[in-house]
Amino acid sequence: MRNYTTQMEAARKGIITPEMKAVAAKEYRTEEEIRELVAKGQVVICANKLHTCIDPNGVGSMLRTKINVNLGVSRDCKDYDIEMQKVMAAVNMGAEAIMDLSSHGNTQPFRRKLTSECPAMIGTVPVYDSVIHYQRDLATLTAKDFIDVIRLHAEDGVDFVTLHCGITRKTIEQIKKHKRKMNIVSRGGSLVFAWMSMTGEENPFYEYFDEILEICREYDVTISLGDACRPGCLADGSDVCQIEELVRLGELTKRAWEKDVQVMVEGPGHMPMDQIAANMKIQQTICMGAPFYVLGPIVTDIAPGYDHITAAIGGAIAAASGAAFLCYVTPAEHLALPNVDDVKQGIIASRIAAHAADIAKKVPHARDLDDAMGDARRTFDWEKQWECSIDPETAKQIRNDRAPEHEDSCSMCGKFCAVRSMNKALNGEYIDIL
Ligand code: SF4
Repeated sequence: MRNYTTQMEAARKGIITPEMKAVAAKEYRTEEEIRELVAKGQVVICANKLHTCIDPNGVGSMLRTKINVNLGVSRDCKDYDIEMQKVMAAVNMGAEAIMDLSSHGNTQPFRRKLTSECPAMIGTVPVYDSVIHYQRDLATLTAKDFIDVIRLHAEDGVDFVTLHCGITRKTIEQIKKHKRKMNIVSRGGSLVFAWMSMTGEENPFYEYFDEILEICREYDVTISLGDACRPGCLADGSDVCQIEELVRLGELTKRAWEKDVQVMVEGPGHMPMDQIAANMKIQQTICMGAPFYVLGPIVTDIAPGYDHITAAIGGAIAAASGAAFLCYVTPAEHLALPNVDDVKQGIIASRIAAHAADIAKKVPHARDLDDAMGDARRTFDWEKQWECSIDPETAKQIRNDRAPEHEDSCSMCGKFCAVRSMNKALNGEYIDIL
């Protein structure tokens, strides 16, 4: 019989939960270390009590960096089974979390399918779903309507919800006064801003935060504090609107922790490379080490079609400097709904960023596969090379399409292969080049 409500409450009571044990084993940490980090809020284990098929993961700056993939049914892709296949493909490619951003029809069956079949952490953005759920225009929705949708998602087994609690009526003045180039680019943030502008009321996710905490506590839903004012272009990076919201997110983090509710804090956005590390440190200080979940950061605005790369550069710097969780970005970002290949490119790019950061952070065993790859390359063990690869399919295809004359080289240098020459030289063998 479970004698705690949330992972955080259990940790603070000194209880080591099955989820903490699973995380400890995956992260090469002791169960006690994980319990302490969960108690302090520096690691979250997003695991709704009703998501029974979950394979638990911990999110925290000292753990392996996790990645999230956004999927969901939309007007252009409304077949639940096809979307579910994409979800499972994303999980098989290494995504630890799926955010269901469904924006069409009855969203509940797909959400329930996710929490009954998918082992990854499931996240949602209830404010998007409110309009779809009630099939009413934004301005006609009430604060209670929004809160009821959060409860519905909690009852459906969702592990974390993005809530844009950090903007208030004051933000409306800030945005007008500070004249950002891109205003608000967060979809949820823009909806909350629009609702406040149209109704003249305070942000319901801020005003009724205590009620929201009660719901999240009951089901152990982690709150991902959304950053409505995340910069949408380099020029808006680290501006007053972004930092002012972050300060409020720090206050809300403290309030959630008082009720044992787990919290992540969302972050930028678009940002010049030289500002990223400082932003991670500021977030860690203001939000007292709560895990930081970043979208990008995208380090240049002029590469549409390649934003999986611009985001991977920023994501690697962010994760190496303290971010715990990366939201994938696909080549279709800013342009269109991603197709299957875009999703794959986005996942691979995020995984590379996360992995590169984990090596720099010296996460236990993070470099094992790289070291094995070095040995496999020296010995021309191609099968081992595929085993160590993030994307073996692509690696194999490139080699096979341009196969070399001999197995002990590749078609790049042929008989001038440095690896082959060195192996032979060190073995005292004759080196035939011509
Ligand atoms: S041929 Fe050149 S690129 Fe290919 S394995 Fe040898 S040294 Fe590396």
